[in-house]
Amino acid sequence: MYYWTNELWRLAYLVIGLGALGWLLGAPGWGLAAGLGLYVYLHLRHLRALYVWLTQHPHDTPPVGAGVWGDLFDRLYKYQKTQRQSQARLRDIIRRVQDSCEAMRDAVVMLDRHGDLEWWNSAAAQMLGFQTPHDRGQHITNFLRDPSFVAYFNARDYREPLTLASPIRDDVTLQYQVTLFGDNERLVMARDISRLHRLEQMRRDFVANVSHELRTPLTVLTGYLETYLDQADQVPPRWQRGLGQMQEQTQRMQNLVEDLLLLSKLETDQTRDDPAPMDMATLLENIRDDAANLCAGSHEIALDIHTDHCLLGDEGEMRSAVSNLVFNAVRYTPPGSTVTLRWKTWKEGAAVEVEDDGDGIDPVHLPRLTERFYRVDKGRSAANGGTGLGLAIVKHVLLRHDAHLDIDSHPGRGALFRCVFPATRVHAAPAERRAVGNS
Ligand code: ADP
Repeated sequence: MYYWTNELWRLAYLVIGLGALGWLLGAPGWGLAAGLGLYVYLHLRHLRALYVWLTQHPHDTPPVGAGVWGDLFDRLYKYQKTQRQSQARLRDIIRRVQDSCEAMRDAVVMLDRHGDLEWWNSAAAQMLGFQTPHDRGQHITNFLRDPSFVAYFNARDYREPLTLASPIRDDVTLQYQVTLFGDNERLVMARDISRLHRLEQMRRDFVANVSHELRTPLTVLTGYLETYLDQADQVPPRWQRGLGQMQEQTQRMQNLVEDLLLLSKLETDQTRDDPAPMDMATLLENIRDDAANLCAGSHEIALDIHTDHCLLGDEGEMRSAVSNLVFNAVRYTPPGSTVTLRWKTWKEGAAVEVEDDGDGIDPVHLPRLTERFYRVDKGRSAANGGTGLGLAIVKHVLLRHDAHLDIDSHPGRGALFRCVFPATRVHAAPAERRAVGNS
């Protein structure tokens, strides 16, 4: 405002001064015109100085200006200076981020919103085979062509990482983690987990081998014990109790070995047959009959089939998973309880539910319940013949069927185990009713 008033005064001085001079000389009109002309000339000179400064010497100090022009030059200069400083600061941050990414041992790849390569560190070049600058702008799936990576990348659900062999070295296992940021841009990180993968493989092989080796001695022991107990009248009475307990424990060990073998098969077996449609009503009826035999009338086992849709998967594995849930429900609930088996579908998927009205489980245990050998009550599980592996088996079977297990339970209010399947696992056409084997 101050400069603006000054500017008006300057105009007034020039016009009035030169107008008065013109009047004295007998040409007031020319005087006024000269005043205005001089004023315009002064502005044009400043305008030219501004133009030359901004276009030819933008990094120099601004030209000297009078009045409002001086103020404008100063303000522009200050604005330019703060802009330059913040640009330098940003450049420095970007350089530091790039340097720290460059120093990382994990591969870091930045993608634009179309999934094209924008920037990557040298670990990415080594692990994934990108070449700078040749590959910039190419789509990531041109390099990571594995169908599971393409499906993972396109599904846009990056909550869980993806483990795959490196695209350029078969002996290297990588774990990919994708993060969405900004305007649909993505950051892909890949970590070399070959050592961990090998150790995990060794652990699995060890457990599978030990279990396998234990099978034969256990079969021999069970055989002899059965023979001795069959001839109980020839066995001294004080040995009978011991032999009975030995038989019980060898049976427990056999169950444990069988469960360990099944678990390691589920973990390692990558070969999967094409999923076949299963008639769930028949399957659940068979499991219900098995459970009814197990509990010999102490529990009521109800069946609740809401749909005739089929489930796509492996029947043997599903039988084993659902049986584990139902047998658990029978074993961990008091006589007189009701166990309900349910099959239902909805738009986004389907579920097999096993619900009981027993004592329930304290919610603090729920997150760890599917861990191997995790038991709420160790003594009770052992007394019931539990191996501590049942729910771990259920979890692995469900993983192989793209499904997951939800557990809902509260003390005194029973327990609900829900196996949730995606819509891709549901087959709409009803299956032909057929007898499902009990093997
Ligand atoms: P286990 O062989 O001990 O039964 P599981 O993995 O099948 O092993 O089950 C883990 C634990 O979960 C069991 O020890 C038991 O304490 C608890 N559990 C499982 N199902 C039920 C249920 N329906 N009601 C109450 N507790 C249950």
